[in-house]
Amino acid sequence: MKTLKSYVGGRWYEAKSGFATLVNPSTEEEIARASSEGIDFGEVLAYARDKGGPALRAMTFAQRSGLLKEMSRVLRDNRDELLDLSRQNNGTTTPDGSFDIDGGSGTLAWYSSVGKRLGDRTFLTEGDGVQLAKTEAFWGQHILVPRRGVAVHINAFNFPIWGFAEKAACALLAGMPVITKPATATALATERCIELIVEAGFLPEGALQLIVGSTGDLLDRLGPQDVLAFTGSADTAKMLRSRDNLLASCTRVNVEADSLNAAVLGPDVEPGSPTLDLFVKDVAREMTQKTGQKCTAVRRILVPRDRADDVQAALIARLEKVVVGNPADASVRMGPLATANQLEDALRGLAELQKGARIVHGKAGRADGVGVPEGKGFFLAPTLLRSDDPATAGPVHDREVFAPVATILPYDATATSAAEIMAMGGGTLVTSVYSNDAAWLGEFLARGAEATGRIYIGSEASAGEAPGSGAALPQTLHGGPGRAGGGEELGGLVGLKLYMQRVAIQGNRPLVDSLSGVAS
Ligand code: NAP
Repeated sequence: MKTLKSYVGGRWYEAKSGFATLVNPSTEEEIARASSEGIDFGEVLAYARDKGGPALRAMTFAQRSGLLKEMSRVLRDNRDELLDLSRQNNGTTTPDGSFDIDGGSGTLAWYSSVGKRLGDRTFLTEGDGVQLAKTEAFWGQHILVPRRGVAVHINAFNFPIWGFAEKAACALLAGMPVITKPATATALATERCIELIVEAGFLPEGALQLIVGSTGDLLDRLGPQDVLAFTGSADTAKMLRSRDNLLASCTRVNVEADSLNAAVLGPDVEPGSPTLDLFVKDVAREMTQKTGQKCTAVRRILVPRDRADDVQAALIARLEKVVVGNPADASVRMGPLATANQLEDALRGLAELQKGARIVHGKAGRADGVGVPEGKGFFLAPTLLRSDDPATAGPVHDREVFAPVATILPYDATATSAAEIMAMGGGTLVTSVYSNDAAWLGEFLARGAEATGRIYIGSEASAGEAPGSGAALPQTLHGGPGRAGGGEELGGLVGLKLYMQRVAIQGNRPLVDSLSGVAS
Protein backbone atom coordinates (compact mmCIF):
# COMPACT_ATOMS: atom_id res chain seq x y z
CA MET A 1 0.00 0.00 0.00
CA LYS A 2 1.29 3.47 -0.89
CA THR A 3 2.55 5.60 1.99
CA LEU A 4 1.86 9.28 1.43
CA LYS A 5 4.67 11.67 2.25
CA SER A 6 4.81 15.22 3.53
CA TYR A 7 7.03 17.79 1.81
CA VAL A 8 8.81 19.72 4.59
CA GLY A 9 12.13 21.51 4.87
CA GLY A 10 12.83 20.97 1.17
CA ARG A 11 12.56 17.16 1.28
CA TRP A 12 9.97 14.39 1.27
CA TYR A 13 9.24 12.97 4.71
CA GLU A 14 7.79 9.48 5.25
CA ALA A 15 6.48 8.70 8.73
CA LYS A 16 7.10 5.34 10.39
CA SER A 17 3.98 5.15 12.58
CA GLY A 18 0.64 6.72 13.47
CA PHE A 19 -0.96 5.94 10.11
CA ALA A 20 -4.53 6.67 8.99
CA THR A 21 -5.78 4.53 6.11
CA LEU A 22 -7.16 6.04 2.90
CA VAL A 23 -9.95 4.07 1.27
CA ASN A 24 -11.60 3.92 -2.15
CA PRO A 25 -15.16 4.95 -1.16
CA SER A 26 -16.74 3.01 -4.04
CA THR A 27 -15.14 -0.35 -3.29
CA GLU A 28 -13.91 0.14 0.30
CA GLU A 29 -10.45 -1.09 -0.79
CA GLU A 30 -7.54 0.36 1.18
CA ILE A 31 -5.41 2.44 -1.18
CA ALA A 32 -2.87 4.37 0.89
CA ARG A 33 -1.81 5.38 4.38
CA ALA A 34 -0.78 8.72 5.80
CA SER A 35 0.86 10.10 8.91
CA SER A 36 2.83 13.18 9.89
CA GLU A 37 4.25 11.65 13.06
CA GLY A 38 7.84 12.70 13.73
CA ILE A 39 7.73 15.98 11.81
CA ASP A 40 9.40 18.84 13.67
CA PHE A 41 6.90 21.64 13.11
CA GLY A 42 9.26 24.23 14.53
CA GLU A 43 11.65 23.43 11.70
CA VAL A 44 8.81 23.52 9.16
CA LEU A 45 7.86 27.03 10.26
CA ALA A 46 11.48 28.21 10.39
CA TYR A 47 12.07 26.95 6.85
CA ALA A 48 9.07 28.90 5.54
CA ARG A 49 9.94 32.03 7.55
CA ASP A 50 13.67 32.03 6.80
CA LYS A 51 13.65 30.88 3.17
CA GLY A 52 10.22 31.12 1.54
CA GLY A 53 9.08 34.43 3.02
CA PRO A 54 12.16 36.50 2.11
CA ALA A 55 12.29 34.98 -1.39
CA LEU A 56 8.64 35.75 -2.11
CA ARG A 57 8.75 39.25 -0.62
CA ALA A 58 11.73 40.08 -2.79
CA MET A 59 9.73 39.19 -5.90
CA THR A 60 7.44 41.60 -7.74
CA PHE A 61 3.79 40.75 -8.33
CA ALA A 62 4.72 39.98 -11.94
CA GLN A 63 7.34 37.47 -10.80
CA ARG A 64 4.95 35.84 -8.32
CA SER A 65 2.40 35.75 -11.13
CA GLY A 66 4.87 33.61 -13.07
CA LEU A 67 4.88 31.02 -10.26
CA LEU A 68 1.09 30.75 -10.36
CA LYS A 69 1.13 30.42 -14.12
CA GLU A 70 3.51 27.47 -13.83
CA MET A 71 1.44 25.86 -11.06
CA SER A 72 -1.65 26.17 -13.24
CA ARG A 73 0.21 24.58 -16.14
CA VAL A 74 1.33 21.64 -13.99
CA LEU A 75 -2.29 20.98 -12.99
CA ARG A 76 -3.48 21.19 -16.58
CA ASP A 77 -0.67 18.99 -17.93
CA ASN A 78 -1.38 16.28 -15.35
CA ARG A 79 -5.16 16.55 -15.30
CA ASP A 80 -5.82 12.94 -16.32
CA GLU A 81 -3.60 11.49 -13.61
CA LEU A 82 -5.16 13.74 -10.97
CA LEU A 83 -8.65 12.83 -12.19
CA ASP A 84 -7.80 9.18 -11.72
CA LEU A 85 -6.49 9.73 -8.18
CA SER A 86 -9.59 11.75 -7.35
CA ARG A 87 -11.78 8.92 -8.70
CA GLN A 88 -9.93 6.40 -6.53
CA ASN A 89 -9.86 8.40 -3.30
CA ASN A 90 -12.81 10.82 -3.51
CA GLY A 91 -15.10 8.61 -5.60
CA THR A 92 -15.61 11.40 -8.12
CA THR A 93 -16.98 11.03 -11.62
CA THR A 94 -14.96 12.73 -14.37
CA PRO A 95 -17.15 15.89 -14.41
CA ASP A 96 -16.98 16.10 -10.59
CA GLY A 97 -13.20 15.63 -10.55
CA SER A 98 -12.84 18.21 -13.33
CA PHE A 99 -14.85 20.71 -11.29
CA ASP A 100 -12.15 20.40 -8.60
CA ILE A 101 -9.05 20.17 -10.81
CA ASP A 102 -10.04 22.66 -13.52
CA GLY A 103 -11.34 24.97 -10.78
CA GLY A 104 -7.87 24.82 -9.23
CA SER A 105 -5.92 25.44 -12.43
CA GLY A 106 -8.40 28.14 -13.52
CA THR A 107 -8.11 30.00 -10.21
CA LEU A 108 -4.31 29.89 -10.35
CA ALA A 109 -4.37 31.15 -13.94
CA TRP A 110 -6.75 33.98 -13.10
CA TYR A 111 -4.67 35.16 -10.13
CA SER A 112 -1.60 34.92 -12.34
CA SER A 113 -3.25 37.41 -14.69
CA VAL A 114 -3.96 39.70 -11.72
CA GLY A 115 -0.29 39.56 -10.69
CA LYS A 116 0.80 40.32 -14.22
CA ARG A 117 -1.36 43.45 -14.25
CA LEU A 118 0.04 44.55 -10.87
CA GLY A 119 3.46 44.39 -12.51
CA ASP A 120 6.73 45.44 -10.95
CA ARG A 121 5.38 46.42 -7.55
CA THR A 122 5.96 44.47 -4.35
CA PHE A 123 3.05 45.87 -2.32
CA LEU A 124 -0.39 47.39 -2.95
CA THR A 125 -1.86 50.84 -2.42
CA GLU A 126 -5.46 50.92 -1.34
CA GLY A 127 -7.93 53.63 -2.30
CA ASP A 128 -7.09 57.28 -2.85
CA GLY A 129 -4.88 59.30 -0.57
CA VAL A 130 -6.67 61.67 1.77
CA GLN A 131 -5.96 65.16 3.13
CA LEU A 132 -5.65 64.95 6.93
CA ALA A 133 -5.25 68.65 7.84
CA LYS A 134 -5.93 72.12 6.45
CA THR A 135 -3.66 71.50 3.46
CA GLU A 136 -1.90 68.64 1.70
CA ALA A 137 1.03 69.24 4.02
CA PHE A 138 -0.40 66.40 6.09
CA TRP A 139 -1.65 63.57 3.92
CA GLY A 140 -2.60 59.91 4.38
CA GLN A 141 -2.51 56.81 2.19
CA HIS A 142 -3.20 53.14 2.93
CA ILE A 143 -0.79 50.54 1.64
CA LEU A 144 -0.86 46.72 1.95
CA VAL A 145 2.39 44.86 2.53
CA PRO A 146 2.97 41.08 2.73
CA ARG A 147 2.80 39.74 6.28
CA ARG A 148 6.19 38.51 7.47
CA GLY A 149 4.91 35.10 8.53
CA VAL A 150 3.55 31.85 7.17
CA ALA A 151 0.16 31.03 5.66
CA VAL A 152 -1.12 27.75 7.11
CA HIS A 153 -3.91 26.29 5.00
CA ILE A 154 -6.14 23.55 6.42
CA ASN A 155 -8.55 22.18 3.85
CA ALA A 156 -11.71 20.05 3.74
CA PHE A 157 -11.93 16.60 2.18
CA ASN A 158 -14.17 17.54 -0.72
CA PHE A 159 -11.82 19.68 -2.84
CA PRO A 160 -8.33 18.11 -2.71
CA ILE A 161 -7.04 20.27 -5.58
CA TRP A 162 -9.13 23.46 -5.72
CA GLY A 163 -8.96 23.79 -1.94
CA PHE A 164 -5.17 23.82 -2.06
CA ALA A 165 -4.94 25.95 -5.21
CA GLU A 166 -7.41 28.73 -4.40
CA LYS A 167 -5.75 29.45 -1.05
CA ALA A 168 -2.18 29.06 -2.32
CA ALA A 169 -2.85 31.37 -5.29
CA CYS A 170 -3.79 34.27 -3.01
CA ALA A 171 -1.09 33.72 -0.39
CA LEU A 172 1.78 33.26 -2.84
CA LEU A 173 0.71 36.23 -4.95
CA ALA A 174 0.49 38.35 -1.80
CA GLY A 175 4.04 37.25 -0.93
CA MET A 176 3.53 34.73 1.88
CA PRO A 177 4.93 31.17 2.01
CA VAL A 178 2.39 28.37 2.34
CA ILE A 179 2.10 25.26 4.49
CA THR A 180 -0.84 23.31 3.11
CA LYS A 181 -2.68 20.49 4.85
CA PRO A 182 -5.36 18.53 3.00
CA ALA A 183 -7.94 16.42 4.86
CA THR A 184 -6.12 13.17 5.59
CA ALA A 185 -8.85 10.87 4.27
CA THR A 186 -8.63 12.29 0.73
CA ALA A 187 -5.02 13.49 0.50
CA LEU A 188 -4.01 11.23 -2.42
CA ALA A 189 -4.55 13.75 -5.24
CA THR A 190 -3.16 16.68 -3.22
CA GLU A 191 0.06 14.82 -2.42
CA ARG A 192 0.63 14.02 -6.09
CA CYS A 193 -0.24 17.56 -7.15
CA ILE A 194 2.37 19.02 -4.78
CA GLU A 195 4.88 16.39 -5.91
CA LEU A 196 4.38 17.46 -9.53
CA ILE A 197 4.77 21.13 -8.64
CA VAL A 198 7.93 20.47 -6.60
CA GLU A 199 9.40 18.30 -9.37
CA ALA A 200 8.85 21.10 -11.89
CA GLY A 201 11.36 23.09 -9.83
CA PHE A 202 10.17 26.67 -10.32
CA LEU A 203 9.13 27.52 -6.74
CA PRO A 204 11.60 29.28 -4.45
CA GLU A 205 12.86 27.19 -1.53
CA GLY A 206 10.42 27.26 1.40
CA ALA A 207 7.53 28.78 -0.59
CA LEU A 208 5.34 25.66 -0.37
CA GLN A 209 5.29 22.79 2.14
CA LEU A 210 2.81 19.95 2.52
CA ILE A 211 1.65 18.23 5.69
CA VAL A 212 -0.14 14.92 5.17
CA GLY A 213 -1.76 13.93 8.46
CA SER A 214 -2.08 15.79 11.72
CA THR A 215 -0.74 19.33 12.22
CA GLY A 216 0.82 18.27 15.54
CA ASP A 217 1.88 21.34 17.51
CA LEU A 218 2.08 23.57 14.41
CA LEU A 219 -0.84 25.80 15.39
CA ASP A 220 0.56 26.33 18.88
CA ARG A 221 3.66 27.78 17.26
CA LEU A 222 1.90 30.39 15.11
CA GLY A 223 2.51 34.04 15.85
CA PRO A 224 1.17 37.51 15.08
CA GLN A 225 2.45 37.68 11.49
CA ASP A 226 1.08 34.24 10.54
CA VAL A 227 -2.27 33.45 8.95
CA LEU A 228 -4.45 30.39 9.47
CA ALA A 229 -6.98 29.83 6.69
CA PHE A 230 -9.32 26.97 7.49
CA THR A 231 -12.02 25.25 5.46
CA GLY A 232 -14.10 22.56 7.06
CA SER A 233 -16.90 21.98 9.51
CA ALA A 234 -18.16 24.63 11.92
CA ASP A 235 -17.29 22.38 14.87
CA THR A 236 -13.61 22.08 13.89
CA ALA A 237 -13.52 25.81 13.12
CA LYS A 238 -14.80 26.67 16.58
CA MET A 239 -12.20 24.44 18.20
CA LEU A 240 -9.35 25.88 16.10
CA ARG A 241 -10.23 29.55 16.38
CA SER A 242 -10.54 29.32 20.15
CA ARG A 243 -7.05 27.89 20.69
CA ASP A 244 -5.23 29.88 23.36
CA ASN A 245 -2.14 30.50 21.28
CA LEU A 246 -4.05 31.87 18.30
CA LEU A 247 -6.04 34.17 20.58
CA ALA A 248 -3.04 35.31 22.58
CA SER A 249 -0.84 36.04 19.58
CA CYS A 250 -3.69 37.57 17.51
CA THR A 251 -2.91 35.27 14.61
CA ARG A 252 -5.18 36.17 11.74
CA VAL A 253 -7.72 33.37 11.20
CA ASN A 254 -10.09 32.99 8.25
CA VAL A 255 -12.85 30.40 8.36
CA GLU A 256 -14.91 28.89 5.54
CA ALA A 257 -17.40 26.52 7.13
CA ASP A 258 -20.87 24.99 6.81
CA SER A 259 -23.62 26.53 4.76
CA LEU A 260 -27.31 25.81 4.29
CA ASN A 261 -27.55 27.49 0.92
CA ALA A 262 -30.96 28.33 -0.51
CA ALA A 263 -32.27 28.34 -4.08
CA VAL A 264 -35.30 30.62 -4.41
CA LEU A 265 -37.88 30.56 -7.21
CA GLY A 266 -39.43 33.99 -7.78
CA PRO A 267 -43.22 34.24 -8.25
CA ASP A 268 -42.85 35.85 -11.70
CA VAL A 269 -41.39 32.66 -13.18
CA GLU A 270 -44.23 31.12 -15.18
CA PRO A 271 -44.97 27.38 -15.32
CA GLY A 272 -43.49 25.95 -18.51
CA SER A 273 -41.07 28.87 -18.93
CA PRO A 274 -37.37 28.38 -19.74
CA THR A 275 -36.44 30.00 -16.39
CA LEU A 276 -38.48 27.39 -14.51
CA ASP A 277 -36.74 24.63 -16.45
CA LEU A 278 -33.41 26.27 -15.63
CA PHE A 279 -34.32 26.39 -11.92
CA VAL A 280 -35.18 22.67 -11.81
CA LYS A 281 -32.10 21.70 -13.81
CA ASP A 282 -29.77 23.86 -11.68
CA VAL A 283 -31.21 22.68 -8.37
CA ALA A 284 -30.92 19.01 -9.38
CA ARG A 285 -27.30 19.57 -10.43
CA GLU A 286 -26.43 21.56 -7.30
CA MET A 287 -27.89 18.76 -5.17
CA THR A 288 -26.01 15.94 -6.88
CA GLN A 289 -22.74 17.40 -8.20
CA LYS A 290 -19.86 15.95 -6.15
CA THR A 291 -22.54 13.84 -4.45
CA GLY A 292 -23.77 16.95 -2.68
CA GLN A 293 -20.39 17.35 -0.94
CA LYS A 294 -19.98 20.99 -1.88
CA CYS A 295 -20.06 23.84 0.59
CA THR A 296 -22.05 25.74 -2.05
CA ALA A 297 -24.58 22.95 -2.72
CA VAL A 298 -28.29 23.76 -2.53
CA ARG A 299 -29.78 22.51 0.75
CA ARG A 300 -33.06 24.46 0.87
CA ILE A 301 -35.39 24.99 -2.10
CA LEU A 302 -37.84 27.87 -1.68
CA VAL A 303 -40.80 27.68 -4.05
CA PRO A 304 -44.02 29.76 -4.12
CA ARG A 305 -46.64 27.62 -2.43
CA ASP A 306 -48.84 27.22 -5.52
CA ARG A 307 -45.85 25.88 -7.53
CA ALA A 308 -44.45 23.51 -4.93
CA ASP A 309 -46.14 20.32 -6.19
CA ASP A 310 -45.09 20.93 -9.80
CA VAL A 311 -41.50 21.77 -8.89
CA GLN A 312 -41.32 18.71 -6.63
CA ALA A 313 -42.54 16.44 -9.44
CA ALA A 314 -40.09 17.96 -11.93
CA LEU A 315 -37.18 17.62 -9.52
CA ILE A 316 -38.02 14.00 -8.72
CA ALA A 317 -38.19 13.23 -12.45
CA ARG A 318 -34.61 14.51 -12.79
CA LEU A 319 -33.26 12.90 -9.62
CA GLU A 320 -34.70 9.52 -10.63
CA LYS A 321 -32.40 9.50 -13.65
CA VAL A 322 -29.20 9.86 -11.61
CA VAL A 323 -27.30 6.54 -11.77
CA VAL A 324 -25.44 6.08 -8.47
CA GLY A 325 -22.34 3.89 -8.27
CA ASN A 326 -18.65 3.43 -8.88
CA PRO A 327 -17.43 6.24 -11.19
CA ALA A 328 -15.22 3.64 -12.91
CA ASP A 329 -18.48 2.41 -14.52
CA ALA A 330 -19.33 4.56 -17.57
CA SER A 331 -23.07 4.63 -16.80
CA VAL A 332 -22.58 6.23 -13.36
CA ARG A 333 -23.52 9.89 -12.91
CA MET A 334 -23.02 10.24 -9.15
CA GLY A 335 -20.36 8.60 -7.00
CA PRO A 336 -20.32 7.65 -3.31
CA LEU A 337 -19.79 9.87 -0.30
CA ALA A 338 -16.08 10.21 0.36
CA THR A 339 -15.78 8.23 3.59
CA ALA A 340 -17.66 5.87 5.89
CA ASN A 341 -17.82 8.72 8.44
CA GLN A 342 -19.46 11.01 5.91
CA LEU A 343 -22.10 8.38 5.16
CA GLU A 344 -22.78 7.85 8.87
CA ASP A 345 -23.00 11.60 9.43
CA ALA A 346 -25.37 12.03 6.47
CA LEU A 347 -27.66 9.30 7.79
CA ARG A 348 -27.67 10.90 11.24
CA GLY A 349 -28.41 14.23 9.60
CA LEU A 350 -31.28 12.80 7.56
CA ALA A 351 -32.82 11.45 10.76
CA GLU A 352 -32.57 14.94 12.27
CA LEU A 353 -34.04 16.67 9.21
CA GLN A 354 -37.07 14.40 9.45
CA LYS A 355 -38.00 16.12 12.70
CA GLY A 356 -38.91 19.14 10.57
CA ALA A 357 -39.57 17.64 7.13
CA ARG A 358 -40.70 14.47 5.36
CA ILE A 359 -38.89 12.51 2.65
CA VAL A 360 -40.64 12.76 -0.73
CA HIS A 361 -37.93 11.04 -2.78
CA GLY A 362 -35.06 8.70 -1.84
CA LYS A 363 -34.57 7.09 1.55
CA ALA A 364 -32.71 7.62 4.78
CA GLY A 365 -30.48 4.63 4.26
CA ARG A 366 -27.37 3.44 2.46
CA ALA A 367 -27.88 2.58 -1.22
CA ASP A 368 -26.22 -0.08 -3.34
CA GLY A 369 -24.12 1.32 -6.16
CA VAL A 370 -23.74 0.20 -9.79
CA GLY A 371 -20.37 -1.40 -10.57
CA VAL A 372 -19.47 -2.69 -7.10
CA PRO A 373 -20.31 -5.84 -5.15
CA GLU A 374 -23.57 -5.60 -3.20
CA GLY A 375 -23.10 -4.07 0.23
CA LYS A 376 -19.85 -2.26 -0.70
CA GLY A 377 -19.36 1.50 -0.99
CA PHE A 378 -20.57 4.59 0.83
CA PHE A 379 -23.53 5.32 -1.44
CA LEU A 380 -26.55 7.48 -0.74
CA ALA A 381 -29.19 8.10 -3.41
CA PRO A 382 -30.37 11.69 -4.04
CA THR A 383 -32.91 12.42 -1.33
CA LEU A 384 -35.53 15.17 -1.45
CA LEU A 385 -37.50 16.28 1.59
CA ARG A 386 -40.37 18.73 2.01
CA SER A 387 -41.56 20.87 4.89
CA ASP A 388 -44.81 22.76 4.36
CA ASP A 389 -44.15 25.09 7.28
CA PRO A 390 -40.65 26.58 6.85
CA ALA A 391 -40.96 28.55 10.10
CA THR A 392 -41.13 25.35 12.15
CA ALA A 393 -38.76 23.26 10.00
CA GLY A 394 -36.06 23.62 12.73
CA PRO A 395 -33.22 21.27 11.72
CA VAL A 396 -33.71 22.10 8.02
CA HIS A 397 -32.26 25.52 8.84
CA ASP A 398 -29.46 24.45 11.16
CA ARG A 399 -28.25 20.95 10.26
CA GLU A 400 -25.98 20.64 7.27
CA VAL A 401 -26.29 17.21 5.66
CA PHE A 402 -23.19 17.08 3.46
CA ALA A 403 -24.71 14.77 0.87
CA PRO A 404 -27.17 14.85 -2.09
CA VAL A 405 -29.96 15.98 0.20
CA ALA A 406 -32.21 19.07 0.01
CA THR A 407 -35.60 20.19 1.32
CA ILE A 408 -38.43 21.93 -0.53
CA LEU A 409 -39.87 24.83 1.48
CA PRO A 410 -43.06 26.34 0.04
CA TYR A 411 -43.42 30.07 0.82
CA ASP A 412 -46.04 32.78 0.31
CA ALA A 413 -44.41 34.32 -2.81
CA THR A 414 -43.40 37.62 -1.16
CA ALA A 415 -39.76 38.70 -1.33
CA THR A 416 -39.77 39.47 2.40
CA SER A 417 -40.90 35.98 3.30
CA ALA A 418 -38.35 34.39 0.95
CA ALA A 419 -35.55 36.51 2.44
CA GLU A 420 -36.61 35.74 6.02
CA ILE A 421 -36.66 31.99 5.37
CA MET A 422 -33.29 32.18 3.60
CA ALA A 423 -31.85 34.09 6.58
CA MET A 424 -33.01 31.35 8.97
CA GLY A 425 -29.94 29.41 7.74
CA GLY A 426 -27.86 31.62 10.03
CA GLY A 427 -25.51 32.87 7.30
CA THR A 428 -24.81 31.17 3.97
CA LEU A 429 -22.15 31.15 1.27
CA VAL A 430 -24.53 31.55 -1.64
CA THR A 431 -28.20 32.12 -2.38
CA SER A 432 -29.52 31.58 -5.87
CA VAL A 433 -32.64 33.49 -6.88
CA TYR A 434 -34.49 32.78 -10.11
CA SER A 435 -36.51 35.80 -11.18
CA ASN A 436 -36.62 38.49 -13.86
CA ASP A 437 -38.59 40.91 -11.68
CA ALA A 438 -36.16 43.69 -10.67
CA ALA A 439 -38.53 45.16 -8.06
CA TRP A 440 -39.04 41.78 -6.36
CA LEU A 441 -35.30 41.09 -6.48
CA GLY A 442 -34.59 44.56 -5.04
CA GLU A 443 -36.92 43.85 -2.11
CA PHE A 444 -35.27 40.44 -1.57
CA LEU A 445 -31.84 42.08 -1.45
CA ALA A 446 -33.00 44.86 0.87
CA ARG A 447 -34.37 42.33 3.35
CA GLY A 448 -31.86 39.49 3.09
CA ALA A 449 -28.57 40.33 1.33
CA GLU A 450 -26.65 40.58 4.62
CA ALA A 451 -27.42 36.93 5.43
CA THR A 452 -25.39 35.52 2.55
CA GLY A 453 -21.99 36.00 0.91
CA ARG A 454 -23.16 35.81 -2.70
CA ILE A 455 -26.43 36.22 -4.57
CA TYR A 456 -26.60 34.36 -7.86
CA ILE A 457 -29.42 35.53 -10.10
CA GLY A 458 -30.58 32.75 -12.39
CA SER A 459 -32.40 33.79 -15.54
CA GLU A 460 -32.70 33.03 -19.23
CA ALA A 461 -30.55 36.06 -20.01
CA SER A 462 -27.42 34.64 -18.34
CA ALA A 463 -28.18 30.91 -18.63
CA GLY A 464 -25.93 30.36 -21.65
CA GLU A 465 -22.82 31.59 -19.84
CA ALA A 466 -23.44 31.32 -16.09
CA PRO A 467 -21.69 28.31 -14.49
CA GLY A 468 -24.30 27.61 -11.80
CA SER A 469 -24.44 28.86 -8.23
CA GLY A 470 -22.05 26.17 -6.96
CA ALA A 471 -18.98 27.58 -8.71
CA ALA A 472 -16.85 29.83 -6.49
CA LEU A 473 -15.27 32.15 -9.05
CA PRO A 474 -11.98 33.89 -8.21
CA GLN A 475 -13.26 37.29 -9.38
CA THR A 476 -16.02 37.46 -6.77
CA LEU A 477 -16.22 36.75 -3.05
CA HIS A 478 -16.27 33.24 -1.58
CA GLY A 479 -17.33 33.29 2.05
CA GLY A 480 -20.34 34.13 4.11
CA PRO A 481 -21.47 35.41 7.50
CA GLY A 482 -22.38 33.45 10.61
CA ARG A 483 -22.62 29.69 10.14
CA ALA A 484 -20.61 29.99 6.90
CA GLY A 485 -17.63 31.00 9.04
CA GLY A 486 -17.55 34.76 8.56
CA GLY A 487 -14.54 34.42 6.25
CA GLU A 488 -13.62 36.05 2.95
CA GLU A 489 -11.67 34.29 0.20
CA LEU A 490 -11.10 35.02 -3.49
CA GLY A 491 -12.99 38.12 -4.69
CA GLY A 492 -10.03 39.45 -6.67
CA LEU A 493 -7.78 41.53 -4.41
CA VAL A 494 -10.00 40.75 -1.40
CA GLY A 495 -8.41 37.31 -1.36
CA LEU A 496 -4.89 38.78 -1.17
CA LYS A 497 -5.67 41.11 1.70
CA LEU A 498 -5.91 38.24 4.19
CA TYR A 499 -2.18 37.78 3.70
CA MET A 500 -1.22 41.45 3.81
CA GLN A 501 -0.97 44.07 6.52
CA ARG A 502 -2.79 47.35 5.89
CA VAL A 503 -0.60 50.27 6.93
CA ALA A 504 -1.65 53.91 6.99
CA ILE A 505 1.20 56.17 5.90
CA GLN A 506 0.84 59.74 7.18
CA GLY A 507 3.04 62.73 6.44
CA ASN A 508 3.80 65.41 3.92
CA ARG A 509 2.08 64.57 0.63
CA PRO A 510 5.06 64.34 -1.74
CA LEU A 511 6.84 62.00 0.65
CA VAL A 512 3.75 59.87 1.28
CA ASP A 513 3.00 59.66 -2.45
CA SER A 514 6.55 58.67 -3.22
CA LEU A 515 6.77 56.03 -0.46
CA SER A 516 3.42 54.51 -1.37
CA GLY A 517 4.26 54.38 -5.05
CA VAL A 518 1.54 56.86 -6.07
CA ALA A 519 3.99 59.41 -7.47
CA SER A 520 5.84 58.13 -10.45
P1 NAP B 1 -13.48 18.82 9.12
O1 NAP B 1 -13.69 17.48 9.71
O2 NAP B 1 -13.78 20.01 9.94
O3 NAP B 1 -11.96 18.83 8.64
C1 NAP B 1 -11.45 19.91 7.91
C2 NAP B 1 -9.94 19.95 8.05
O4 NAP B 1 -9.62 20.23 9.40
C3 NAP B 1 -9.25 18.64 7.71
O5 NAP B 1 -8.06 18.93 7.00
C4 NAP B 1 -8.92 18.07 9.09
O6 NAP B 1 -7.80 17.23 9.08
C5 NAP B 1 -8.62 19.33 9.83
N1 NAP B 1 -8.68 19.19 11.27
C6 NAP B 1 -9.59 18.56 12.02
N2 NAP B 1 -9.29 18.66 13.32
C7 NAP B 1 -8.14 19.39 13.40
C8 NAP B 1 -7.31 19.83 14.46
N3 NAP B 1 -7.60 19.55 15.74
N4 NAP B 1 -6.21 20.54 14.18
C9 NAP B 1 -5.89 20.84 12.90
N5 NAP B 1 -6.64 20.44 11.85
C10 NAP B 1 -7.75 19.73 12.09
O7 NAP B 1 -14.30 19.02 7.79
P2 NAP B 1 -14.44 18.02 6.54
O8 NAP B 1 -15.29 16.88 6.96
O9 NAP B 1 -13.11 17.74 5.93
O10 NAP B 1 -15.21 18.93 5.51
C11 NAP B 1 -16.60 19.04 5.43
C12 NAP B 1 -17.06 20.38 5.92
O11 NAP B 1 -16.33 21.40 5.26
C13 NAP B 1 -18.50 20.64 5.62
O12 NAP B 1 -19.11 21.11 6.78
C14 NAP B 1 -18.47 21.72 4.55
O13 NAP B 1 -19.56 22.61 4.58
C15 NAP B 1 -17.22 22.44 4.86
N6 NAP B 1 -16.67 23.07 3.67
C16 NAP B 1 -16.73 24.43 3.58
C17 NAP B 1 -16.22 25.06 2.47
C18 NAP B 1 -16.25 26.55 2.36
O14 NAP B 1 -15.55 27.09 1.51
N7 NAP B 1 -17.03 27.24 3.15
C19 NAP B 1 -15.64 24.32 1.45
C20 NAP B 1 -15.59 22.94 1.56
C21 NAP B 1 -16.11 22.33 2.69
P3 NAP B 1 -7.91 15.63 9.16
O15 NAP B 1 -8.57 15.20 7.93
O16 NAP B 1 -6.51 15.21 9.28
O17 NAP B 1 -8.74 15.34 10.38
